[in-house]
Amino acid sequence: MNTIETEYDLVIVGGGTGGPMAAVKAKEKNPKLRVLVLDKANVKRSGAISMGMDGLNNAVIPGHATPEQYTKEITVANDGIVDQKGVYAYAANSFPMIEELDRWGIKFEKDETGDYSVRKVHHLGSYVLPMPEGHHMKRVLYRQLKRARVEITNRVVATRLLTGPDGAVAGVMGFDCRTADFHVIKAKAVVICTGAAGRLGLPASGYMFGTYENPTNCGEGHVMAYHAGAELTNLECFQINPLIKDYNGPACAYVTGPFGGYTSNNAGQRFIECDYWSGQMMMEFFNELEGGRGPVFLKLDHLAEETISEIEHILHTNERPSRGRFHEGRGTDYRKQMIEMHISEIGFCSGHSASGIWTNERGECSIPGLYAAGDCASIPHNYMLGAFVYGKFCGENAADYVSGISQPAIDAGQVEKEKARVYAPLGKTEGL
Ligand SMILES: Cc1cc2nc3c(=O)[nH]c(=O)nc-3n(C[C@H](O)[C@H](O)[C@H](O)COP(=O)(O)OP(=O)(O)OC[C@H]3O[C@@H](n4cnc5c(N)ncnc54)[C@H](O)[C@@H]3O)c2cc1C
Repeated sequence: MNTIETEYDLVIVGGGTGGPMAAVKAKEKNPKLRVLVLDKANVKRSGAISMGMDGLNNAVIPGHATPEQYTKEITVANDGIVDQKGVYAYAANSFPMIEELDRWGIKFEKDETGDYSVRKVHHLGSYVLPMPEGHHMKRVLYRQLKRARVEITNRVVATRLLTGPDGAVAGVMGFDCRTADFHVIKAKAVVICTGAAGRLGLPASGYMFGTYENPTNCGEGHVMAYHAGAELTNLECFQINPLIKDYNGPACAYVTGPFGGYTSNNAGQRFIECDYWSGQMMMEFFNELEGGRGPVFLKLDHLAEETISEIEHILHTNERPSRGRFHEGRGTDYRKQMIEMHISEIGFCSGHSASGIWTNERGECSIPGLYAAGDCASIPHNYMLGAFVYGKFCGENAADYVSGISQPAIDAGQVEKEKARVYAPLGKTEGL
C-alpha cells in the first residue's frame, strides 16, 4: 500500500454527469490547465446515467417555456423552499446546453419540423423532452473528455478534502479501491460531482445496493464538503420517489402521462393532480394510502397495444433495461393488470428535491476553491440537464479561479490523520 502524490490545477471528483461537463468546460476555458477527473468507478460507465437516459425532465426551450415560468414552477413544486437565483440561472442556460449536447451527438426527440418534441407533465409549463435513443450518453461524454485531453483516474474513492492555512481548498485525498494505495492529490480547486447521498435509507427490498439512486453515490461528497467547513442546506427536503414495488427504478407515471398512463388507487381511480414530483404529489400519495385506498398502482392497462409497446420501448430499452426483465420474472404485464407501486427510501438529492452542498448561481460553495454541481449540490430539481449546466458553471468559474492563484500549502497532519482513518478497519481483528 503506497502513498501516491500528484498535483493538478483542478480536480473534479465524480465523473458521472456533471463531472465530465465541468472538466471539458474548464479545459475549453483554459487548455493549459492540468485537469483531473477522479471516480471511484470507471468513468466510461459510472453514475446515474450509466445506462443512458430516457428524457430530459426540465428542458426550458424557447417557444415552450420561459426561465421565469420555470422558476415559478419549481418554486411551487418545492413549496417555496428554493433559491430562485440558482434555479433561474439554470433555466436561462438550459437551452444553449441542449443545443450543445445535440451538436455533440446526443439525440433528443424532434417533431416533423425538426422542433424539439416537448411534453407537458408539470403544473404550468411543458418541459419534458423524451430521448428514446438516449442510451449512448456516457459514450458521448467520454469522447468529449478525451478530445479535451482531460486526465482520468478510475477506481479511486475520494474521502476528504485538503485545506490550506486560510481554509481554502488545497486538494483531495482518497484510496484506490483495487490496490488500497493512498492518494494525496494537490489542487488549487476541487469540483464535487459525487451525485446524490442515495443510501441514507434502506430500500424496502432490504437489499443495500437496491437503492433508487446509483448505489455508489452514498454521500461522500456531502461529507467531504462538510468536514472542510462548507455549508450544507435544505437537508429536511430529502427525496422520496414513487417506485414500482420491489424494483428500484422510477415508476415513471410522469413518462407515461403524455401517453395516457397515470398513478391510480386500488379502485383504478386517478388521485394525483400532477405526476411531476412535488411536495403536493407525495402528500396525495400518502393520503391515499392512509385513507385505505392503497396500494397504489401504475395504470396502463386501458391503453392501446401500440401505445403500450411505445412505452415499453422507452422504459425498458434505455436507462433501466432490467425493468423489462423484472416484469417478465414477476409475470406482470402493463396490458393485463395495474402494476403495484411503493415508496423509495430517503436520500439527499437536489436532482429530485433540494438538499445538498450549498452553492450559489456560479456553482461556488461557501469555502474558497470549492465548487459543486449535480445531485450533490443544492440547486433544486436540477436533474440531468441541471448537472450539465452547473457542471459548465463550475468548470468555467473554477478555471478562472485557479488561473490567478498558486497551489496552497499542504498540511501534513491532515494527510496522516486521514490515512490513519482510511486504514483503521484493516487493523481490527474482528468485525468492522
Ligand atoms: C433512477 C433514476 C432515474 C432518473 N431519470 C431521469 C430522467 O428521466 N431525466 C432526467 O433529466 N434526470 C433523471 N434522473 C436524474 C439524473 O440522472 C441525475 O440528476 C444526474 O445524472 C446527476 O448527475 P451527477 O453528476 O450529480 O451524479 P452522477 O452522474 O451519479 O455521478 C456521480 C459520480 O460520482 C462518483 N462518485 C461518488 N462518490 C465518489 C467518491 N467518493 N469518489 C470518487 N467518485 C465518486 C460516482 O461513481 C459517479 O460516477 C434520474 C436519476 C435516477 C437515479
